[in-house]
Amino acid sequence: MRRIRRRKRQTRVASYIPPPPPAVLHRSKRDRDRDRRYRTRYGITLLDYEAIFEYQKGVCHLCGRPPKKVSLAVDHDHRVKGGGKTSVRGLLCPGRYFGCNRKLGGIDNVPWLKRVIDYLENPPAQTVLS
Ligand SMILES: [Zn+2]
Repeated sequence: MRRIRRRKRQTRVASYIPPPPPAVLHRSKRDRDRDRRYRTRYGITLLDYEAIFEYQKGVCHLCGRPPKKVSLAVDHDHRVKGGGKTSVRGLLCPGRYFGCNRKLGGIDNVPWLKRVIDYLENPPAQTVLS
């Protein structure tokens, strides 16, 4: 009889999500959902989000615009191992195509950005042609 070898199922260890603080429990379902989402995705609570939001004076940290219909997106550094709270950088415009969070996604490289700024301020062609 042939035995079928089964692959060991990889068990996904669910990270522990501490219960929300009472301040969040007594708010709307929408807030509780947001709290849960921030905890699982970024390791922060809704209260943490609101503290950052207040610190940023309620606007996107890059363009300075307030959120419209959708709340500001939590920007985090994907390179931070383990993610969580230490990877969160700030709150930026949401938006699938034109939000600051999305725009930053492909260019968050500090040395390259410094060269971009220098390039824009001192275009090499203008140095040669003038
Ligand atoms: Zn923005």
